[in-house]
Amino acid sequence: MPSGVGAFLSKRAPLCFVNFRNAVKIMLKFTIRLFIILAPLTSICLAQVQLENPDIIGEEEQKIVQTRQMMGTWAEITVYSQDVKSANIAIDSAFDAMTAVNGLMSAYNQDSEISEINRQAGKKPVSVSPQTFFVVKSAIYYSEISDGAFDITISPLVRSWGFFRKQGRIPPQEEIDQQLALVNYKLIELDSERNRIKLLKNGMALDLGGIAKGYAVDQAIEKLRASKVENVLVNLSGNMYAMGHPKDKEAWHIGIRHPRQKDNLLGFLKLKEKAIATSGDYEKYFIHEGKRYSHIINPRTGHPVSGIASVTIIAPTAMKADALSTAVFVLGAEKGFQLIKSKDGVEGIIVQIDDKEELSFVMSEGFKKRFISY
Ligand code: ADP
Ligand code: MG
Repeated sequence: MPSGVGAFLSKRAPLCFVNFRNAVKIMLKFTIRLFIILAPLTSICLAQVQLENPDIIGEEEQKIVQTRQMMGTWAEITVYSQDVKSANIAIDSAFDAMTAVNGLMSAYNQDSEISEINRQAGKKPVSVSPQTFFVVKSAIYYSEISDGAFDITISPLVRSWGFFRKQGRIPPQEEIDQQLALVNYKLIELDSERNRIKLLKNGMALDLGGIAKGYAVDQAIEKLRASKVENVLVNLSGNMYAMGHPKDKEAWHIGIRHPRQKDNLLGFLKLKEKAIATSGDYEKYFIHEGKRYSHIINPRTGHPVSGIASVTIIAPTAMKADALSTAVFVLGAEKGFQLIKSKDGVEGIIVQIDDKEELSFVMSEGFKKRFISY
């Protein structure tokens, strides 16, 4: 049984915070610090660049970094503050907020509200917290705007392909067809008056893996804001929100990982008051007869998406960036690009990959302006 969060807190950081003053040096020396977690199904890599010592800026301001292994993945919060004690208290409350989201929404946690909704599928509605209700309702919105490409009822197929238990398998087409009948966000019944959720068919199940990490980051940011922390970067397994800026820079510098060279970056961009998230085919996947099967599944075909190596989305909230990165991954370059363009404050890059593992890039205008490629 995969531990803890699993379902939505997977383990990787395709994006990493780069102290750019050191970045070139670091790149040249290939000293990206790697946290490698090997799971039976996949080889998962979490790459981050960190300073060895806290930065002392001016007289008193310090860089405070806390990294925690949170139920199967890594979360990191970086704050610049003069008041180290208060900053650490604020960081603790932000980690608590992320842990609470996991407690409510992880399908790996039998006590979560999502697990209860899944147990009651086809039977009765389940009363849930405003947080869970909000995330499920938002997920349905992302289904609607992506023409069903994003669909949190994908769980039966995620399980069939072995991603839930991290033991990849190719299901027979008959099984895929059966599961497809259970995948449809329109069969989620919401009762807004009483915050109740019901799955209309027996066998249906929700998987918030494509959206809840982003929401958790937003919750963490809310806590940090309330604690008057001004300059902070929250990074939950590659789902990030950048607030304010490091004292000596005008924005946070975020590196974007190369989807096939785990020690290398495609480039970096500067971010402030924005969220960023990546969906990739290099975190949770398995190879069968030379073909790569990744964990993002097309709800139309019932098969893992191929031809896209990664999608990175910049958005006003981390939940939006998280959901849209998964949605665009499923939609592919053409329709995905249209979706990015249609949303205010949303920018993105789609990295396509062909049979020869050649990469090609589609970038929105706003992304192009921010992006500095290596
Ligand atoms: P990660 O979980 O690595 O952060 P994503 O945010 O792209 O990556 O989410 C992928 C996860 O979302 C999968 O592991 C699965 O739990 C779920 N998922 C897979 N396909 C879909 C889909 N079409 N729509 C919504 N969620 C999906
Ligand atoms: Mg996502």
